[in-house]
Amino acid sequence: MRAVDDVVDDVRKAFVAAHDREPDGIFSAPGRVNLIGEHTDHNEGHVLPFAIDRRTWVAAGRRDDGTVTVRSSDPGTEPVTAAVGTLDRTTGWAAYPLGTVWALEQAGVGPSGWDLVVHGEVPLGAGLSSSAALESAVALAVSECSRADLDRFALAAAGRRAENDVVGAPVGIMDQAASLLCREGSALLLDCRSMATEDVGLGLEAAGLGILVVDSRVRHDLADGGYADRRAACVAAAKALGVPALRDADLAAVEGLADDVLRRRARHVVTEEARVFEVVELLRAGRPAGVGPVLSASHASLRDDFAVSVPVVDALVTAAEGAGALGARIVGGGFGGSVLALVPRAALDEVATACRAAALGPEPTVREVAPAPGARRDL
Ligand code: ADP
Ligand code: MG
Repeated sequence: MRAVDDVVDDVRKAFVAAHDREPDGIFSAPGRVNLIGEHTDHNEGHVLPFAIDRRTWVAAGRRDDGTVTVRSSDPGTEPVTAAVGTLDRTTGWAAYPLGTVWALEQAGVGPSGWDLVVHGEVPLGAGLSSSAALESAVALAVSECSRADLDRFALAAAGRRAENDVVGAPVGIMDQAASLLCREGSALLLDCRSMATEDVGLGLEAAGLGILVVDSRVRHDLADGGYADRRAACVAAAKALGVPALRDADLAAVEGLADDVLRRRARHVVTEEARVFEVVELLRAGRPAGVGPVLSASHASLRDDFAVSVPVVDALVTAAEGAGALGARIVGGGFGGSVLALVPRAALDEVATACRAAALGPEPTVREVAPAPGARRDL
């Protein structure tokens, strides 16, 4: 990874080359990974993501002609120009940034024109939320450059709205909240019902620990249908239990559910919610190594009760644990995707090698991620 100052200077130069003037500012926002709390968000429970050391930069300059332009250094993209008033009909990659400008307009920022130049270093589609990094950087840029100074939560809501209403992806607010609200070295405990947040220090470095994200590069065709099915099962289980959401259910009541499938789905959510708090307690007690077994318990629950793992992913978890990881679990919606492993620094290489060797599918991409600061102004 290059030094941040070099990246910022390159982004500035790219803006000047495209628009023949200096940008009003350069902003960046990170990707994220969720330490624990899988499938708790849509049950109004808790999640514990942290911002990672891969960011997306946006250089922004105002225009006063009602036009918005956006370009990206990503080779798979073309520059896009659109008129304010049509931004919610944007398609393709530009739906993320222009959708965010639109959502901010809906929140009372603007309308005005913008030139936006994007440079991302969050790998796309690798489970690290390059989409939220892009939306969050644009949201902060537009808010600050128009002196709207919306609070970070309102910015996260705008990014989510872009993704829900313009891109058309039914995501929650975790990714944008993590990108905008996380502090360096800390995870963000987010209550998906009240939206209350708390910082929880990770203490990984002091404990000699690292985190690997192993991308299986497998994404099951059934992912979307499977996700909808699991959400529906959670709603049905909450109804059968007479609670507003599974976050409110207790384990004894869940064990009494007659339907075997609903019982297992609900048991995952209720035990996962408890694991989030177990991890928070361990971190607050300065015992991050103790988080390992909780991650492995989460994986077993996602595999056996929630039934969202697949053999390709299970093989990576087993390989990571066998090579010295303290714990590992599938992350994301499921049916493929990535594995998160907590690893003593001395074993990082061994775990990476073991995962590559154990792959049942394509060779996985192994990345170390470290907790990093949330969205910020860089220039
Ligand atoms: P993830 O968020 O897990 O990385 P998504 O499918 O949600 O995967 O979002 C990835 C999409 O976001 C890309 O296909 C692209 O359209 C858009 N995107 C993200 N970062 C950039 C970037 N730096 N430049 C252009 N488009 C980007
Ligand atoms: Mg995304």
